[in-house]
Amino acid sequence: MNKKIKAKLFIFTGPSGVGKGTILNDFFKKINDNNSTKITYSISYTTRLPRDGEIDGVHYFFVDEKKFNNLIKNDAFLEYAQYSGNYYGTNKNFVQNKINDNISVLLEIELQGALKVMKKCPDAVSIFITPPSFEELEKRLRNRHTETEEAILKRLECAKIELSNIDKFKYVIENDSVDCAVSKLTEIFNREVADV
Ligand code: 5GP
Repeated sequence: MNKKIKAKLFIFTGPSGVGKGTILNDFFKKINDNNSTKITYSISYTTRLPRDGEIDGVHYFFVDEKKFNNLIKNDAFLEYAQYSGNYYGTNKNFVQNKINDNISVLLEIELQGALKVMKKCPDAVSIFITPPSFEELEKRLRNRHTETEEAILKRLECAKIELSNIDKFKYVIENDSVDCAVSKLTEIFNREVADV
């Protein structure tokens, strides 16, 4: 007999460079391979330019500011925020439709957006990914070679604010080892969707 599940909204936040993308790649592979429980990833809209290898409609929906502003006017976002000079927003209809279909949704979003969603959706499960140390975070961010020096410094400034809000999150996972972080996330997910 299939276990009963209750779809939930998961908020996944952590400073840029902490390894959220790597954790999520492994998590989604693992969870979709061996689970009757369903969870999907919400693809955000952003005004940021694509990095090498990023695909429109896969990593983000890449739009210009005019299109982003139209989406705001049309109330298309569950939340949106400006982060490090660019806008990012969550597609409200996508999230609502999936939850209505009993499919959990994971939002990988920064702090301001996370706080807005927590307020609007008190049942959302908030998870913060933290680095082993600030020095390690800076090292990881620099080793990605995806940002200019100016962008790295902006992201490190944001990271300080994000790390000082850690106590607002229900769960905190330290990303010391990706495998351990994925196991902890899987455990949290399975526990939270179990309909008791
Ligand atoms: P990046 O430019 O590195 O892809 O993302 C920068 C930050 O924006 C990351 O912390 C990421 O989690 C966050 N982000 C991505 N999509 C959204 C969104 O839809 N809303 C908000 N508020 N933040 C987002």
